[in-house]
Amino acid sequence: MSKLKYERPYLKKMNTGMLNKSGAQSEFTPVTHIEEVAVKDLIKQYGSPVFVLSEKQIRQNYKNAVRAFNTRYPKVQFAWSYKTHYNNAVCNIFHQEGSWAEVVSGFEYNKALKNGVPGNNIIFNGPDKHSDDLILAIENDSLIHIDHFEELYLLIDICTTLNKKAKVAIRVNMDTGIYPVWDRFGFNYESGQAWQAINKIIASDKLQLVGLHAHIGTYMLSANAYGVSAAKLCDLAINCKSQLNTVIKYLDLGGGFPSQNTLKGAIGLVSTPTVDEFAEVICATILNAGFSNEDLPLLILESGRVMIDDAGFLLGSVLANKRLSDGRKATIMDFGVNIMFTSFWFDHKISPAQEASQFNEESVMFGPLCMNIDVIREAVSLPLLNKGDHVVVHKVGAYNMTQWMQFIAMRPNIVLIDTNNNTHVIRKSEDLAYLEQLEQMPEHLKSK
Ligand SMILES: *Cc1c(COP(=O)(O)O)cnc(C)c1O
Repeated sequence: MSKLKYERPYLKKMNTGMLNKSGAQSEFTPVTHIEEVAVKDLIKQYGSPVFVLSEKQIRQNYKNAVRAFNTRYPKVQFAWSYKTHYNNAVCNIFHQEGSWAEVVSGFEYNKALKNGVPGNNIIFNGPDKHSDDLILAIENDSLIHIDHFEELYLLIDICTTLNKKAKVAIRVNMDTGIYPVWDRFGFNYESGQAWQAINKIIASDKLQLVGLHAHIGTYMLSANAYGVSAAKLCDLAINCKSQLNTVIKYLDLGGGFPSQNTLKGAIGLVSTPTVDEFAEVICATILNAGFSNEDLPLLILESGRVMIDDAGFLLGSVLANKRLSDGRKATIMDFGVNIMFTSFWFDHKISPAQEASQFNEESVMFGPLCMNIDVIREAVSLPLLNKGDHVVVHKVGAYNMTQWMQFIAMRPNIVLIDTNNNTHVIRKSEDLAYLEQLEQMPEHLKSK
């Protein structure tokens, strides 16, 4: 008979009928499979830590969002936000589903082209578009969303030289009742700056104004804010028609719908509006704005995180347990904030990946990096985990695999589980050769 593991006695106050401080019980339920594939097999084959994505979940999220809007408005188009997750396999899932591309840099623009997205289905956002990127975008008939007056003048200049009209929209920022206002991107509505930009574009005759764009924030918890944003874009569009004889072909309401992650510091359960609730407010506002039937604009959405966050999992292993000097228990994992950037904003749900003891103790979960900010969860109530045990971190599909940093550790494999439960590496883990390939050694420092 094997010796039983000693578990330190622990007193825990329970408030019956209420959520206790550790939140819902779900963190104790083992998660042994992602889709139909066993976690232990994934780790055995692809190492630990490893990112795993469910293709089925991505497609389901996409279809759900499209349905929410298509049932409420006749002309809807989604554009995949590349910066949320720009692995080409992931982008191509969205493109197969019918999504355009939304990019915010020259390299993202080129990625979209290489993924076969037609130029006129690429939306080019962001404050830092270089001249050569703009030339490429104009030549490919892409939709260029102007961020500031400097860019507007640069575009007029380039179009004069190329003797070709660029298809443009302006990004509009506004007060939607959510503070702080994101007013650093685009032209302000309330001050009249947006209207001034519109007038300059139409007067210039070098640019074709085809759309209006707003992206009011990210992880937005208010559907109403989108009603305000839609109403202000509609107001500009209707004035374009009546005062400047210009029909605005599309309104782009940006991204920002929240995933079901838990924001740090949220007390209890904060419910996030569903895509249907956002769709209801946005579509009703545009339909009631007073457009004639033939002028009804195409509605574009650039949703990122809500489409992919819950399709991404991080599998990892316990390196060690410790008792901190203040008595708290600490668990050290083999993944840290280097590959989980979003742990700065969210208390990611973490589940054990195997049957575990009945006992639990609140512990702080650290990553393996040699720095103090490497904290995955400040307080998580999990069953006793031993060295070598596995965990599943939930809802890490958005932003982690683009914001990750190569610090101390190499970035791990990304594995896609397809709709038939076959697994594919869609990005290999990094190695020393990858890390050093761009380094150059001055002659005098070469080792003899
Ligand atoms: C980041 C970004 C998005 C996607 O935002 P989510 O919050 O992930 O939906 C969409 N549009 C623009 C302009 C962005 O910068």
